[in-house]
Amino acid sequence: MNKYMQLFQGTAFTSKTPTEIQILKDYLFCINTDGMIEKIVAPEDSEYQTLLDIYQDKDNFHQLAEGQYFLPGFVDLHVHAPQWAQSGTALDIPLHDWLHTYTFPLESKFSNLDFAKRVYDDVVSTLLANGTTTALYFATVHKEASILLAEICASKGQRGLVGKVVMDDPEGNPEYYRDADTHTALVDTEEFIIAVKELAKSTKQGVYPVVTPRFIPSCTDDGLAGLGKLAAKYDTYVQSHCSESDWAHSYVQDRYDKNDAFALNDFGLLRDKSVMAHCNFLDDQDVDLFAETGTAIAHCPISNAYFANSVIPVAHFHSKGVDIGLGSDISGGFSPSLFDNIRQAVISSRMLEDGVNPSLPAQDRGVPNSRLTVDEAFYLATAGGGESLSLPIGRIQENYVWDVQIIDTQLSSAKLPIFDEKEDLHDIFQKIMYLVRPEHIREVWVQGEKVHTR
Ligand SMILES: [Zn+2]
Repeated sequence: MNKYMQLFQGTAFTSKTPTEIQILKDYLFCINTDGMIEKIVAPEDSEYQTLLDIYQDKDNFHQLAEGQYFLPGFVDLHVHAPQWAQSGTALDIPLHDWLHTYTFPLESKFSNLDFAKRVYDDVVSTLLANGTTTALYFATVHKEASILLAEICASKGQRGLVGKVVMDDPEGNPEYYRDADTHTALVDTEEFIIAVKELAKSTKQGVYPVVTPRFIPSCTDDGLAGLGKLAAKYDTYVQSHCSESDWAHSYVQDRYDKNDAFALNDFGLLRDKSVMAHCNFLDDQDVDLFAETGTAIAHCPISNAYFANSVIPVAHFHSKGVDIGLGSDISGGFSPSLFDNIRQAVISSRMLEDGVNPSLPAQDRGVPNSRLTVDEAFYLATAGGGESLSLPIGRIQENYVWDVQIIDTQLSSAKLPIFDEKEDLHDIFQKIMYLVRPEHIREVWVQGEKVHTR
């Protein structure tokens, strides 16, 4: 009997519930040829020794060393792939200036496929090296370069969900960077969807086309309505920005006399496969509409600190049944690491709960019940992202894909502060969440294939 493609032995951390971590100590993980976790076997299980006897001398048996742990691969729900080329710059200016002085001129350069290839190769490799096994990408308005990004995800083994961005309103966008007109924007989007669906047929881990209006202020009504129809016709994912900042939120209220969520829904853009970035200013009716339509939120805590004018009440939205995951929002967020975003999600939520203005009395300063624990933020980066995309990813569990990162806490050049051989595993998990850097991520696997080694 040698039916499994790979057999792994080691200790794994995965989410049991949105608030609780499950620790699988010294388990066996049996991976089939589709890259799925077919069976998980506990040490006390009678099959455990039998499987070890069969596999332990074989090439497809992998035993973690002392101090190494499995985590699920991260799901990044919001990345502007072209903006990787400006990550870390210009975060001290307002959103409008940031878009027009830096971001649109940069994105316009992706008409050049050589430049696009250099940046896209690097951003996909960098995200994999940071443990991100699935990413939901905005590309640019350029159809060819957007297809190239999907091809790079396919060849590097990352599960990429990619959108050709639509910006068809001549009023809302600079002349040097927008779709030629609404008709062209919709034709290019349809051709893009067909090309990526074709590419997906030869890709083990999957790549997916995403209908991507940049945000309402950059699109015409006809453009938005056409995109809603394309999403329904091809049953695609949809992504956009929703109620991100005071300006964006009130722009939509002025244009339609309703909130962003209801305007997007009128165009058929809130669906079970929709993920909306930020969503800081949703009111309770907006949140109910998200829950009803199955629309998920990409929470981008680092980016929000610069551009969103607020801290999103994640705990409150979660309690109303909306799927929520984490996004790096490169380059509104400077970091390609979801570890960094887990940390910021916790920190921001604590500041929302306690408040930040010391001149106010303590009881008036914050918003009660806002805090997230690190276990909850880890859930958002993994299982929450998987639920947002309705894919079997983000958990180390039977019938989920083998998307994992192998963390080494005892790397000689960067040991984590673990001094007791019998240290509680949940404490080790928390140290990993707060202290891991890319060098601790020794291997990354997607759909049962190794895609990164350090
Ligand atoms: Zn964004």
